[in-house]
Amino acid sequence: MTRLFAGTPFDIPPRCDRCGELEESCGCESLGPERLPAEKQTAKVRADRRKHKRMVTVVWGLDPVDCDLKDLLSKLKAACGSGGSLQDDQIELQGDHAARVKKQLQEIGFKIAK
Ligand SMILES: [Zn+2]
Repeated sequence: MTRLFAGTPFDIPPRCDRCGELEESCGCESLGPERLPAEKQTAKVRADRRKHKRMVTVVWGLDPVDCDLKDLLSKLKAACGSGGSLQDDQIELQGDHAARVKKQLQEIGFKIAK
């Protein structure tokens, strides 16, 4: 790409909005989308009864751009010692782990909706 003022004193190389480094040398691109700190996000947790009286714990209300849901899912699976999956933009864990999930989310820093 050639810039209008390339090679003149007016040629200011573009800098990254995120880290302030020159865009050529910054590594932000590879970090993926910018996430919002957990402290600024509110999660909702509920236990649902599914077919055959199977219980699932659902974490919802988190924005998939602001929050790395895959990463959060693996943390919650580890904390609960149970399986789980992403369903659209909500996390579903097998079993009723609402209390443990809320505690874990709060430890990470999320706010929990009442
Ligand atoms: Zn950057």
